[in-house]
Amino acid sequence: MSKVSQPDIPEIQIFNTLSRTKEKFVPVKPGRVGMYLCGPTVYKEAHIGHMVGPVIFDTVKRYLTYCGYEVNWVVNITDVDDKLIAQANQRGISMSQVATEMTADYCANLLELGVNQISSMPRATENIDEIIKFIQELIEEGFAYAVEGDVFFDVLKDAQYGKLTNRNADDQQGEGGTAAGKKRSAADFALWKLAKSNEPSWKSPWGDGRPGWHIECSAMSRRILGRTFDIHGGGLDLTFPHHENEIAQSECCHGEPMARYWMHNGLMRASKGSGKLGGKTDREPSGASSAESQGEQADTNTKISRSKGAGGLRELIARQTGERIRFFLLRTHYRSTIDFSEEGLEEAGAALEKFYNFFIRYQRITSLDFYQQPDEQGLSLPSLGGGEFETVGSPFLQSIKEMRNNFIHSMNNDFDTNGGMSEIFGLLSALNKYADEQNLEDVAQRDSQSVSDFSRGVETLRELSWILGLFQKPVRKSEGSADEGALDSVMGLVIDLRNDARAGKNWDVADKIRDGLNAAGIVLEDRKDETGWKTI
Ligand SMILES: [Zn+2]
Repeated sequence: MSKVSQPDIPEIQIFNTLSRTKEKFVPVKPGRVGMYLCGPTVYKEAHIGHMVGPVIFDTVKRYLTYCGYEVNWVVNITDVDDKLIAQANQRGISMSQVATEMTADYCANLLELGVNQISSMPRATENIDEIIKFIQELIEEGFAYAVEGDVFFDVLKDAQYGKLTNRNADDQQGEGGTAAGKKRSAADFALWKLAKSNEPSWKSPWGDGRPGWHIECSAMSRRILGRTFDIHGGGLDLTFPHHENEIAQSECCHGEPMARYWMHNGLMRASKGSGKLGGKTDREPSGASSAESQGEQADTNTKISRSKGAGGLRELIARQTGERIRFFLLRTHYRSTIDFSEEGLEEAGAALEKFYNFFIRYQRITSLDFYQQPDEQGLSLPSLGGGEFETVGSPFLQSIKEMRNNFIHSMNNDFDTNGGMSEIFGLLSALNKYADEQNLEDVAQRDSQSVSDFSRGVETLRELSWILGLFQKPVRKSEGSADEGALDSVMGLVIDLRNDARAGKNWDVADKIRDGLNAAGIVLEDRKDETGWKTI
C-alpha cells in the first residue's frame, strides 16, 4: 500500500494525557504502531458506553493504516474479577462460561458498529504465567511484596507515582477489607489475590490465587507490544487509579516508558430527557476512591453505565442500526463528553439517509454499487492512501481535492473526526450538485468526462468514509419490513402505476414514484421491455 504522498500534509499531532499537550506522533519503530486499549470486564452484556473507546480507536487505527503504518491493536478481555465470580455464582454456571458468553456479546456488538480492526484480544486467564512472571520481577526489583498469599505493589517505592493525573500516593486507596491490614501503606494495590474458598484460582509462588486487575494490562501489553509501545488508550475514567497503576508496574519493572502517547476518550452521559440512563462507571475497582467522580467529569452521576438500566445495546442497535451509533459517536471529538440521546441517533439516521439516497443515485448514474468495494484485507481500496488525482481544468475536482485535504488535516489534528465528518458532508453536497448541474442522470445529455469526474469524486467519498468506518456494507433492513412475496406484488402494482403515468406523459408522477421508492431503499431498473426493481 502506498503512503499518503502529499508533501503539504502536516504530521499527526496527538494530545498526550501525560504531557497535557499535543505532540508530534513519532512511533517507536518506524512504520509500525503498537496500540493498546483497555477492554471490558466481561460479566454482563455490553452497553453503549462500552462502545465509545472501540469505535474511536478503530478509527484511529484506520487512519494510521491509511497513512501507511502497520498497526498492531490490542484490546484485552478481563475475564477474572469479583464481578464475574459473583455473576457466575448467581447464575450457577462457571466463571469461564460467563466470560465466554459475554465476550461473544461484546464482539458481536463491536462488529455491528463496524469495529473490525482489532488485531488481538488477549484474555487475562490465558496469560496467568506472564502475569506471575511480571509480579516476580517486581518483587525481585523491590517494588512489590508478598504477605500471606497476597502480593501488593509498594506505591511509596515509586517516586514518579501519579504523574499521569498529577496525584500522589496519598490520593490512592488500594484494596480495603481484609487485605487492608496486610499492606505497608493504604495506597498499595493488589497484584495477586489469595484465593477465597470456591473461587477460581491458579497456582503461584505465593499460593493459590488470582491476578489483580491492573497487572494484567502491564503483562499482556508487554508480551504482545513490548516494553515501550506507541499508544495506550482508554476511557477518561481509567486514568486513575488504573492507568497510574499500569504505569507504576511497567515503568518500575522496566525503567523505561510504558507508552509514548496516552490517549483518553471522554465518557458518555445521558442528555437531559434520557432519564432512564445513569449510574457510575462499572470499572471502579472496589475499595478505590473514585477521584474521577469528584473530578473532571462533574456529570458523572449521569454517566452511562449498565448499573441503572442503560443496557439493551442489542435492542438499541436493532432499533437504530450500528452505523447510526458509530456516526453519532464520531460527531463528537473523542476527548469530549458525549451527550447520548435517542434523538441524537435519530438525527444521525436522517443524515445517513442522505448518503444512502446518494448511493442509489450513484447507481442510477454509473450502474455501479457503491458498496462493491474491495475490502481492506488486501488493502486494495482503489484510493486508499493513493487517492491522488489530477484536477486539471475541473473546478469540481479541485473542490473535491480541497475537501480531501481538509479531511486529512482534521485527522492529523488529534484525530478530529467531527471535522472530517463535516468534509464528508461537503463532499456529498458537492457530488449531488454536480450531478444536478451536469444532468448526469440523463443519458442523452450528459457527457462522459463529467461522469468520469463524478465517479472520481465518489472514489474520494469512499476513501474517506473507509477511514471513519462508515458505509462498509449496506445497512440491514429493519425487522418488520414486508416479506418478499408481499413486496413482489406491491412492487408489481407500483411499477404498473408508474408505467401508466409514463405512458400518459405524466413525468412528475412517474418521477415522484421513483424518488419515493428510492427513499424506501428500492431502486427501479428500466430495461428494454420491462421495469425491474431491487432493494439496496
Ligand atoms: Zn488496562
